[in-house]
This record gives sequence, structure tokens and C-alpha cells, in this order.
Amino acid sequence: TVPPVPLLEVRGLSKAFGGNKAVDDCSFTVPEGSITALIGPNGSGKTTVFNLISGTLGADRGEILLDGERIDREPSWGRAHRGIGRTFQITRLFKEMTVLENIVTPLRSFSIPQLGLGAVSGPEAARAMELLDFVGLAAYRDAKAGSLSYGQQKLIELAQVLVLDPKLILLDEPAGGINPTLIERMGELIRDLNRQGKTFLLVEHNMPFVLGLCDPIRVLAKGHVIAQGSPDHIQKDPAVIDAYLGD
Ligand code: ADP
Repeated sequence: TVPPVPLLEVRGLSKAFGGNKAVDDCSFTVPEGSITALIGPNGSGKTTVFNLISGTLGADRGEILLDGERIDREPSWGRAHRGIGRTFQITRLFKEMTVLENIVTPLRSFSIPQLGLGAVSGPEAARAMELLDFVGLAAYRDAKAGSLSYGQQKLIELAQVLVLDPKLILLDEPAGGINPTLIERMGELIRDLNRQGKTFLLVEHNMPFVLGLCDPIRVLAKGHVIAQGSPDHIQKDPAVIDAYLGD
């Protein structure tokens, strides 16, 4: 039997900054329907890989395939259009805008280009409220995004990425800097979305969170995948232990 085409595949991806090889011949897959983790010590190239996949950076070498089709020459908006959504390590919400306005922003700048924001109403507002309900923050619809806690802002960002209905969601440290209650909620939301068919690739430093949520795991060191597999397999791999101890 032919193995299924992975939802995302990177092949031989490389990116240098000056003489510094941030990503070096990096290859891995994200199976359709998985919650895949990309882990590794600080500076191992995780954020750069995210930037290369989402298209905010161009690769020096290598290929990126979504559903078996090359996307590495497409601009970031084209990749978003194909179904790649992304959140950032530090949230990029518009702090002076309301929560509801933030959630509809991707729709405005994307499929309905228009100047100014105007009122959020009709189907757009209904969809945004549905997503706010989903992340448990409907009561904050009219609050300024900047007035919410950091963890709440991360949940708003998750709702924001969902508004374009991506099939692959890249999450940059979803559990980073947020309290244990919200970490738990974040994990449940990701699992819930995964059951609804969303595929995830996430970068995360919180190992209990990763080990409890993700399978498979890809481990980066110096821009290269040094180990991969199930949480059980990864935890026993001497190369992984070495990479972290050497950090
Ligand atoms: P991680 O996310 O795993 O911490 P990064 O992808 O942020 O790793 O960084 C990988 C390497 O690339 C590091 O050595 C970092 O200093 C370097 N780097 C990342 N972005 C840039 C940039 N825009 N300019 C120069 N060097 C960069």
C-alpha cells in the first residue's frame, strides 16, 4: 500500500543569516490529522522554520509541499489562501481595537479589502462570536484586546486564526507565558479542533504540554532534524537528551 501524502512536507530546507545556518537541510512531515510538535533548544531554528513555511521568509534551498503540491514559491498570502494559518510567539493583536474587531481582521484584509474597519455585523459578526464562544471569551467581545491578560490574548489569537478556516495551523508557543488554567484550556481547544479535522504543527517549550498533546514530535538541533517519532520514542533518544543538555 502507498503511504498517504502528508499534509505538509519540508524537504532539504535551508536558510542562512550571514554565515549562520539557522535552518540546515531540514526535512520532516506533518501527517494529516496530527498534532505534530517541533521542539529543540533555543536557537535551533524553530521560528525560522515557521517563517519559511508561512512564507514570511524565503528559503535558500529546499521544498515545501502542502497536499503534495509545492508552495515554496508562493507569497505568504497565497499560502494562507491554501489553508495555512499561523499564530505568533508574541501575540500580534491590535491592542487598541476590540476583541471582536481583531477576530474579523483577517477577513477584512484578505477577502474583503477595504479601508477603515466599519461596524462588525451580519454573518461576519456571527462567525466571530461563534469563535469567541469557542475559546470561552464571548464576554470580552467589546473589550480592547490590549486590556486582556496575555493568556487570554493567545486564545483570541487562536480564534483569529480560525476565522479563515485553515486546514493546517502553525502555533508558536501556545502555552508560553500563560497560567496553568489557560494552558489546560489551550490544550483542550487544540484537541477539540483536531477532532474536528484540523492539523497542527506547534513549537513549544513546555514539555509536559507537548508530551501530553503531540504525536509525532520532530526534534531540531542546529537547524537539522536529529530525532523524531512518538513522545515515548523521543524521550528515550540519547541524541535528544544530548541536544538539550548541550544548550
Ligand atoms: P528558535 O526559534 O529555535 O529559538 P530561531 O529560528 O529563532 O531559533 O533562530 C535560529 C538561528 O537563526 C539563531 O542563531 C538566530 O540567532 C538566527 N536568526 C533567526 N532569525 C534571524 C534574523 N532575522 N537575522 C539573523 N539571524 C537570525
